[in-house]
Amino acid sequence: MAHYLTNLDTIFARIDDRRDEVASLTSELIRIPTVNPPGDAYTVCAELIGERLRGQGFAVEYLRAAGALGDSDTFPRTNVVARIEGGGPGPTVHFNGHIDVVQAGEGWTVDPYAGTVRDGRVYGRGACDMKGGLAASIVAVEALLAQCRDFPGAIEISGTVDEESGGYAGVAWLAERGYFSPPRVDHVIIPEPLNKDCVCLGHRGVWWAEVEIKGRTAHGSMPFLGVSAIRNMAAFLTRIETELCPRLAQRRTAMPVIPEGARQSTLNFNSLHGGLPERPDEQGFPAALVADTCRLVLDRRYLVEESAEEVRGEIVNLLDDLRRERPDFEYGIRELWSVPPTMTPEDAPLVRALDEEIERVLGKQPRHIASPGTYDQKHVVRIGELRDCVAYGPGQLELAHQPDEFIEIDDMVDSAKVMAATTLRLLHGSPA
Ligand SMILES: [Zn+2]
Repeated sequence: MAHYLTNLDTIFARIDDRRDEVASLTSELIRIPTVNPPGDAYTVCAELIGERLRGQGFAVEYLRAAGALGDSDTFPRTNVVARIEGGGPGPTVHFNGHIDVVQAGEGWTVDPYAGTVRDGRVYGRGACDMKGGLAASIVAVEALLAQCRDFPGAIEISGTVDEESGGYAGVAWLAERGYFSPPRVDHVIIPEPLNKDCVCLGHRGVWWAEVEIKGRTAHGSMPFLGVSAIRNMAAFLTRIETELCPRLAQRRTAMPVIPEGARQSTLNFNSLHGGLPERPDEQGFPAALVADTCRLVLDRRYLVEESAEEVRGEIVNLLDDLRRERPDFEYGIRELWSVPPTMTPEDAPLVRALDEEIERVLGKQPRHIASPGTYDQKHVVRIGELRDCVAYGPGQLELAHQPDEFIEIDDMVDSAKVMAATTLRLLHGSPA
């Protein structure tokens, strides 16, 4: 038996003792309304995490992404990175949690920013996505440190901003400055809410584009004198509906994406607008005009088996076909956002370590999954060029961004044990 394992039972007991503390830390984090957009209260939240960890002996850095997308003196993009060295050389295990939450929206039966604890759950915006996961990782590491400080290597915990809006002032900004690259960091765990028995290997790719169909205006009583951008857009939408969507539904992936419905290529019409600007408060009739423009924003999610060029190509081909078939069909296309799919190999050290420790703590086989949507792993992999990164954390993904979002305290405690044990296993580089 590897010698570090002798500590595990005591560390698990220490995590059980901290059950109330995991819940209260989650509540404390929820009570800071880090709503994004606009990116409120980031500094206060970063300092709560940073000062707590400083008290545990961590070296703490506050890193404002000055000048990055969204950063201003009113809404500073403040990230926190905390690091503690062990007793000798070794690898670094890093826990990264985003501190921002999406707005509360309607339909709540509890105060979204009170951090209410009830029936073994903590309620509030961000409870599951992902302040509960962040709290679990902090308490996991604190329990580990209370038991041993002479581990090889180092442990880091970061709280980063703007994940909900792409992570450009958060993980991407830090990755550009070497915070997510070897030799500084070797393994990165992102405690997003993907269920305590699941290891999330990666996510599908994203390709967003705006297609504009251009027409020519005329009097609405004589539409034959103009070119209706809306009719030409309708022709394009029909092609997508009848040709592209059925094709995408056939395109299955080897990625273990959950839910099952997302285990294929998908396309969403994000927005569509043609003709005169929408003005619901306007009195009277709109002017009688043929629409000279119509714009569509497409949200295409794609698979490791596809490339961004192919995804773009099949949209452009449909448009070019229509240009040949319909007189006066004119279009422009603008790429808005592109993120390649990412998937960490199932035999990566971090995945194997999590597998072992999930089985130890929960007594069941872990599931390997992939996320339908993208998250900060993309920046760690692409910019940091660090492959050993996955998401693992407590909570149900289905509750994220919903009213009455909550997290089970039991799930936080269990996943904290998995995180602590995984950290020790990786630091000791031991296959046990
Ligand atoms: Zn999240």
